[in-house]
Amino acid sequence: MSLNVLIVGAGICGPALAMLLQKSNPKHNITIVERSPSLRSTGQQIDLKTQAPHILRKMGLLDEIKSNCVNETGLEMVDSKGKQIALFGASASGQRRPGLTSEHEIMRGDLVQVLYDASIKQDAELRHESGNGKGVTYVFGETITALDETTEGVDATFFGGQKKRYDLVVAADGQGSRTRRLAFGQEVSDAAFKSLGVHAAYYSIPRIEGEGSLARGHLAPGRRMILTRTSDRPVTGVLLFTMKESSRLQASYQKSLEDQKESFAEMFKDADWQTDRLLAGLKTSDDFYAHEIGQIKMKQLSAGRVVLLGDAGYCPGPFTGLGTNLCLVGAYVLAGELARRGSDVAGALKSYEEKMRPFINDCQRFSSTTLGFLFPSSQLGIWSMNRILWAVSKISDIFPRSQQDDHWKDLPEYPELNLAS
Ligand SMILES: Cc1cc2nc3c(=O)[nH]c(=O)nc-3n(C[C@H](O)[C@H](O)[C@H](O)COP(=O)(O)OP(=O)(O)OC[C@H]3O[C@@H](n4cnc5c(N)ncnc54)[C@H](O)[C@@H]3O)c2cc1C
Repeated sequence: MSLNVLIVGAGICGPALAMLLQKSNPKHNITIVERSPSLRSTGQQIDLKTQAPHILRKMGLLDEIKSNCVNETGLEMVDSKGKQIALFGASASGQRRPGLTSEHEIMRGDLVQVLYDASIKQDAELRHESGNGKGVTYVFGETITALDETTEGVDATFFGGQKKRYDLVVAADGQGSRTRRLAFGQEVSDAAFKSLGVHAAYYSIPRIEGEGSLARGHLAPGRRMILTRTSDRPVTGVLLFTMKESSRLQASYQKSLEDQKESFAEMFKDADWQTDRLLAGLKTSDDFYAHEIGQIKMKQLSAGRVVLLGDAGYCPGPFTGLGTNLCLVGAYVLAGELARRGSDVAGALKSYEEKMRPFINDCQRFSSTTLGFLFPSSQLGIWSMNRILWAVSKISDIFPRSQQDDHWKDLPEYPELNLAS
């Protein structure tokens, strides 16, 4: 039984799902619409840990991913003069220890590109097996404006007014998913966003001499944190985080990128350390991305034949470092359940929901109280926090937690996906 599937969003989980579905049944007809006119391959470093390396290995992509990984050796926390306060090493894949850096760190854009290229390559190889199917088709600069459930499928209306019927529509359009809003209604969709009270901006600036392969972190008074990540790249990634209440920042997300940049520059102008350099680079950066950090918590992952995947359905927030892992688990389980149940789409969606819940709960388990401690408001609070970070770094050196390379055992097995064992 072949399915006519529409995937909305060509980020990370959209292309991954398309690949998995096509591999399980080359006769599926899969369309991916991406709002952006081309692949959105910006963003900073992301971690691939727990189940993600295992899924990518099964898809035959882990070697390619590894060759694109950046070489970050750990994280040093510094004071306002740049003097080291604490040093955290990198964790091996599967090892859980305090710090920022894991074995597989990749630029988001490189991961998006690897997945996209691999799906195009696979499509070229499998298209001849597709019979009347059309394989995988990407449509850039396109989105949907309405969804109507019928007894035979779900009708999607495209931006240009065209209407098409699908057996399944997958919302893979990220944290602010418009597809989620169309399928579940504005109220339910908005209520799913649980703010963690942190605003974040990410962008790149030119690297300077002396910046090594360590990430660097600096706490500034007024509940602000700055991170720089250079690894072995020619540019430095800058991450600005603040827990300070700011109606200006909040309002800026509805405005232009220039307005967002100005709001962050105003917020960080007196944050010491390398602030002058980082804010000068902010003005000219061309990959700036800012948002309010939160988690997406939905009671249900599907409404009729529309299903939520990745950040659209269960974003855990960047502080967990597990968003990409969770979205790849989601693509794997959704493709696996659809492959197992053939034409029983409703049964596959029910089982996808049941199987995903433990992974979602695990990845979303997060203490906002701990987060609050990481953003002290006073100099005294920063002094205390820096002493705590120093102690934690020493303890984790003396008692590193044992290797836990068995996260893949939690994944269901799907021989129907025709992947490597
Ligand atoms: C530009 C960008 C930069 C990011 N930078 C970072 C980062 O630095 N660090 C980090 O940890 N995470 C970052 N993320 C988030 C990270 O990619 C996700 O948390 C995670 O990997 C889950 O991926 P996803 O495929 O569910 O969603 P995303 O990776 O967010 O992909 C969603 C895709 O859907 C597209 N889209 C959105 N709305 C529509 C629509 N209405 N119609 C059609 N297409 C639509 C988007 O353009 C995007 O390509 C970034 C996301 C984006 C979009």
